[in-house]
Amino acid sequence: MAHVVVVGGGLTGLTVAFRLKQFAPDTAVTVLEPRPRPGGNIGTEEHRGFRVECGPNGFLDRTPAVPDLVRDLGLSDRLIAASDGSRKNRYVFLGDRLRKLPRGPLGLLTTSLLSLRGKWRLVTEPWRKTPPPQAEESVQQFAERRAGKEAADVFADALVTGIHGGDPALLSVRATFPRLPVMEREAGSVVRGFLRAAKQRKRDAKARGEPAPGPMRMWSFREGLQVLTDALAEQLGGAVRCGVTVRAVLEAASVAPWKVYGESSKAWSADAVVLACPSYEQAAILQELSPQLADELAAIPYNRIAVVALGYRERDCPRRFDGFGYIAPQNTRRDVLGVQWCSSIFPDRAPQGFVLWRALCGGVHRAEQVEWSDDRLGKAVHEEIKRAMGVTGEPVYRKIVRWPNAIPQYVIGHLDRVARIDALAAAHPGLFLTGNALRGVAMADCVEQAGLVAAQVANFVQNATV
Ligand SMILES: Cc1cc2nc3c(=O)[nH]c(=O)nc-3n(C[C@H](O)[C@H](O)[C@H](O)COP(=O)(O)OP(=O)(O)OC[C@H]3O[C@@H](n4cnc5c(N)ncnc54)[C@H](O)[C@@H]3O)c2cc1C
Repeated sequence: MAHVVVVGGGLTGLTVAFRLKQFAPDTAVTVLEPRPRPGGNIGTEEHRGFRVECGPNGFLDRTPAVPDLVRDLGLSDRLIAASDGSRKNRYVFLGDRLRKLPRGPLGLLTTSLLSLRGKWRLVTEPWRKTPPPQAEESVQQFAERRAGKEAADVFADALVTGIHGGDPALLSVRATFPRLPVMEREAGSVVRGFLRAAKQRKRDAKARGEPAPGPMRMWSFREGLQVLTDALAEQLGGAVRCGVTVRAVLEAASVAPWKVYGESSKAWSADAVVLACPSYEQAAILQELSPQLADELAAIPYNRIAVVALGYRERDCPRRFDGFGYIAPQNTRRDVLGVQWCSSIFPDRAPQGFVLWRALCGGVHRAEQVEWSDDRLGKAVHEEIKRAMGVTGEPVYRKIVRWPNAIPQYVIGHLDRVARIDALAAAHPGLFLTGNALRGVAMADCVEQAGLVAAQVANFVQNATV
């Protein structure tokens, strides 16, 4: 029987193992994970009725990958959708007040976020004929070229801060938002590309005899996102080995072509190895096997994030905050990147009479904040929340989680680097690299990639054993 070792028990590694069991049921799988609990940066904690997400807050149904996984795990009836208010009301904290991000053409025309000139540049995007430059563009350059500097400063920054905690001037548009340049190329404009894609989705649904799809939604589970990784780990049972840090992976001159080394000379033989841990860990693990591959992986930068969750009494809030929350554009260099109104997005995040909000601090420009003491971070976030939202009382609850290596940043040159990584890894048949550092950071990307990698591994072991 073939044996596959998956290194890293986050969402990616667990999904690779789960799908591999489906695609190649005769294959033995072992998942090695250093922490006492699998799940990687997905984790839900509950204290005194406040339910806090330590990492991601929800996933988008942009592709069927996560909904399909949820269905296959028998969890569909435990899913909860983000509230309607959180879909409609998203804000930017600019000029010392919360301003609503516009939705639709009317919202764009009436928004106070742009001057008349800025609005004109944005709404005329479909007719703009500025060809892309030869050199790879950043998100900021792409947005400025298509929609003008004002719109880029507000919207590109909000998008990149909200999803990546990164800097739009550093991130590659092709690597970070691959659909946008494709839309420009195929439809001549991003706006037209979105409209075409929406029409196509409607046509596809009609052809399948399904109702027209609504706009993209965010989802979680009533008990929090950890339900997903717990269910994956439960399905895998004894295949998941916690408390194991992998130190090296080497090709072996024995029957099984791979040897995976943990600490204190513990080792596992394998027919194939999947590295699903962060890229800087993959680099350390591959240092002896291929220093060149290790250097490429080590060069992928990560940002640093502190999650600061605060609970308040509802009576200390000047109004009901019905929305997703707000982003503070990075160029304002404020103490928070943004605040998610968790108890307004999903039910059961705070006890009756209280609210739970979660601020993200740090990012690429304020990385030092992750080193701040709990008191300093908690105070800074409370001051920002007082200023932006006018709360009158002190927080009654606080939970702080630090991510010294939070989200990989797909900077200019990322796709070329990934191509070099693929080429170098291909020289070692049976070695597969995946995880959020390569082809998408969102949970939906990780699950989609994990399914593809599982299919490749199944194919490899089946061919290797015939
Ligand atoms: C603060 C924060 C907020 C986020 N918000 C969202 C969101 O709202 N929506 C969304 O879609 N995405 C969000 N993301 C991104 C998303 O959570 C991640 O991209 C995704 O969960 C990554 O999964 P992964 O398995 O690839 O990596 P990880 O979760 O990092 O898992 C890697 C695993 O490898 C293990 N490992 C490390 N070293 C070794 C070793 N030497 N040997 C063996 N194992 C090792 C680790 O312990 C870990 O369990 C957020 C991320 C963060 C940090």
